[in-house]
Amino acid sequence: MTTKTRFAPSPTGFLHVGGARTALYSWLQARANNGEFVLRIEDTDIERSTQAACDAILEGMNWLGLTWDEGPYYQTKRFDRYNEIIAQMLEKGTAYKCYCSRERIDALRESQAANGEAQKYDGCCRDLPARETDEPFVVRFKNPIGGSVVFDDHVRGRIEFSNEALDDLIIARTDGVPTYNFCVVVDDWDMGITCVVRGEDHINNTPRQINILKALGAPIPEYAHVSMILGDDGAKLSKRHGAVSVMQYRDDGYLPEALLNYLVRLGWSHGDQEIFSLEEMKQFFKLSDINKAASAFNTDKLVWLNQHYIKSLDPEYVATHLQWHMDDQKIDLSNGPALAEVVTALAERAKTLKELAASSRYFYEDFAEFDEAQAKKHLRGVALEPLQLVQQKLSALTEWTAEAIHQAIEDTATELDVGMGKVGMPLRVAVTGAGQSPGLDITLFLIGRSRSEQRISKAIEFVADRINS
Ligand code: GLU
Repeated sequence: MTTKTRFAPSPTGFLHVGGARTALYSWLQARANNGEFVLRIEDTDIERSTQAACDAILEGMNWLGLTWDEGPYYQTKRFDRYNEIIAQMLEKGTAYKCYCSRERIDALRESQAANGEAQKYDGCCRDLPARETDEPFVVRFKNPIGGSVVFDDHVRGRIEFSNEALDDLIIARTDGVPTYNFCVVVDDWDMGITCVVRGEDHINNTPRQINILKALGAPIPEYAHVSMILGDDGAKLSKRHGAVSVMQYRDDGYLPEALLNYLVRLGWSHGDQEIFSLEEMKQFFKLSDINKAASAFNTDKLVWLNQHYIKSLDPEYVATHLQWHMDDQKIDLSNGPALAEVVTALAERAKTLKELAASSRYFYEDFAEFDEAQAKKHLRGVALEPLQLVQQKLSALTEWTAEAIHQAIEDTATELDVGMGKVGMPLRVAVTGAGQSPGLDITLFLIGRSRSEQRISKAIEFVADRINS
């Protein structure tokens, strides 16, 4: 049988890292087994679901590259189907109409609570003969009496729930709207889901859903309930720990490869390997290797992975992601080097693409002023001669290559009988405005000849003014 998994977010907010990890595990389970992956939007809670949240979830999934083979399905578009099944269940007697008033249910709960009993529906309407009436009703599922529901969870092992503890679940409300757990059952059945991967907060729904599936004569999927993600202080991961939205990670300068690699390892392992390409994830992923314990988010490790991918992925590819940050930081690329060359030059120094973008501005735009502290330190009287000589040598070059530039700087230092730093630092501040950059040869090369020459002239004027003032 072909493996078919799904990710079924409720569109009540953005795609957060916990959801993304569940989606990734579910997606990998499909991809690792040559199966199919379904995206289903669980929007039955009309009050809390928004179009903006749907869009945000799709945007997050797309950015991560978690492609789906079917969907997105929307539960709100499937009400006819749910109602059809409810009618069939009423017909077959696996569900019944319950006319109990709110007052009766409340009183029942109160007395159960007072007696220290579990609060559940007492089955008052369960065996009523069909009646002709206009009274409002809900539809309840006839949960089996006695026995238990057992399933082998891929993450948590064997789990057993006694039917005694399960209510006759409401599957349609008084207004006829089918309830959440019921929609999930019909969807998983109709969509042919063979394996449900979801958060552990749904464990209590599983026995109810299995009972309904059985009543429908539907196959029971396998289940894997994934534990929570905690912040580095051990509390449930939330906004106060920093970014929790997947798209915030894009905005903060992370590559999807880094976030995916980070998330896959957050609660799953394959030996002691830390770095996984998508191909390796697909090759090695097994639900049974998911860790039962909650995992703690560690931003330092994510940063480390991000640096790894910025350095090791194809610069042309990294540039496609860097482009977003250049646009975001309003750096106009029309007048400067190809972005991939900037990636190559700066990859070693950047932790994030956001930083990389910010530190590449001088390749594309002139700066108004030299960094004050750097200028104070390096654009002093002693810098005048080295700057003038290097300017002369650079303008004499017949070709503007990194090698030729390197030679010009070296010759300047030799001729003046000073260390490379005495030439290099003033030159760096002159052409970049700041005290840090990649190697000067590649930096000047990428800045370009005329721009470099203009900036050196400006620095010479700056030093000269300083001497005269
Ligand atoms: N819609 C549920 C959620 O967002 C997931 C339900 C499921 O995977 O069965 O938590």
